[in-house]
Amino acid sequence: MFKRKPSYRSSGKRSSGLSILALLLILAAAGAGAWVLMRDLSGPEVSVRPDAERVGLAQPLEVSLSDKSGVQSVTISVKRGSQSMVVKQESYAVLDKKRTIAFDLKDTRLPEGAFELEVRASDGSYAGFGKGNTFTYTKQMVLDSKPPRIAVKTVPPAIHRGGSALIVYTLSEEVVKTGVQVGELFFPGYRQENGAYACLFAFPVKMRTDGYHPQIMAQDKAGNVTSSRLLVRALNRNYRADTLNIPDSFLNFKANELAQLCPEQGTPLEQYLCANNKVRAANDAKLLEVAADPANVTPHFVWEGPFRRLPRSAVKANFGDHRTYVDGSRTKIDEQTHMGLDLASVAQAPIPAAAAGRVIWVDYLGIHGHMVLIDHGLGLMTQYSHLTDYNVKVGDVVKPGDTVGTTGVSGLAGGDHLHFGVLVGGVPVQPLEWLDASWVKNNITSRLKTNVK
Ligand SMILES: [Zn+2]
Repeated sequence: MFKRKPSYRSSGKRSSGLSILALLLILAAAGAGAWVLMRDLSGPEVSVRPDAERVGLAQPLEVSLSDKSGVQSVTISVKRGSQSMVVKQESYAVLDKKRTIAFDLKDTRLPEGAFELEVRASDGSYAGFGKGNTFTYTKQMVLDSKPPRIAVKTVPPAIHRGGSALIVYTLSEEVVKTGVQVGELFFPGYRQENGAYACLFAFPVKMRTDGYHPQIMAQDKAGNVTSSRLLVRALNRNYRADTLNIPDSFLNFKANELAQLCPEQGTPLEQYLCANNKVRAANDAKLLEVAADPANVTPHFVWEGPFRRLPRSAVKANFGDHRTYVDGSRTKIDEQTHMGLDLASVAQAPIPAAAAGRVIWVDYLGIHGHMVLIDHGLGLMTQYSHLTDYNVKVGDVVKPGDTVGTTGVSGLAGGDHLHFGVLVGGVPVQPLEWLDASWVKNNITSRLKTNVK
């Protein structure tokens, strides 16, 4: 509990101080000016992280000290009115020039509201008769230990393995982070015009129904976190198995591209396996990275109406197909899950933007070859892979049906087609849901209109 703060100040010894001063003057007069300039006249520099005014009881805090003579001791206290309590006190035998002290306020039992953080630090200089220079740093702060309250306003969504879902919720206070956590994946919620938050999230196709436990979370400015199980109806969906031939003719056809993707590998087959595994994994990680950049996400939907697909096209492969790769002698050489919809029309067919959005990627990406990504808001993106040519550039705002490029064989494509992907937070999801106007209306757009009062 709180105690009266002990007095730290030592008194007297003014005469000794004067004699030190006299000595210094003599030294200066003796031409030791350089020594004077290099002397350490000030106490350690103090900074506190995070640089926020509001903190929670469990928030990890950090005091950083730096001093050219080395840090000798530090006392960190919290004060409220006339009461004071030491949170951390350390002194050091080794005079390091930089010290970082981690602490939190869990044991202070500070009440909610304003308090003062005080850091008193001494350096290892000979000032103050060997006690060093002391510097006192204070910061006015507010203790906020109440986590935000989350109220989900939409009925629990039904979400299929490989599919997407949307929830709308409100929060009791301002937050620095909120969204839905699925294992290692985080899908941010975005504040909408009506003050409620909308979060679009995925059920990754590689997860099992009994292992899918999304958590909804919110973290306020003081670091208080609320996290609870999000109610969803997780439904399994079966996907097809498919066999893909990788004959020598294919490897020869792709020889130049494979050599560029995996130059360190020897044979064309080794290069192919490297591209299909190592390069694929790096490309998946890149898509997550692109989607995690707030600059690539419009915080509200920028589209309406049904999604468009490549016209007059045949489906050559489905999302979620479990592919077994075999060589010319039908021996299994690899397996992967296909993460989009392969659509084939005539060669170099113009590709329409599926919906209104903003172009955020126009570049080559490994197995995808020449690729375009369009941001549609709330972390929803469409992906167009294996292109021959681009008709858009990064930053372009597209209307539904605008030509983004032409189909082709770039990347790991054997024949001219469009690999059409839909991504939620960078995670590939079932495109057929988004191409189904009634699914979109029932599961996405109508839920956004939920009354939040
Ligand atoms: Zn594909």
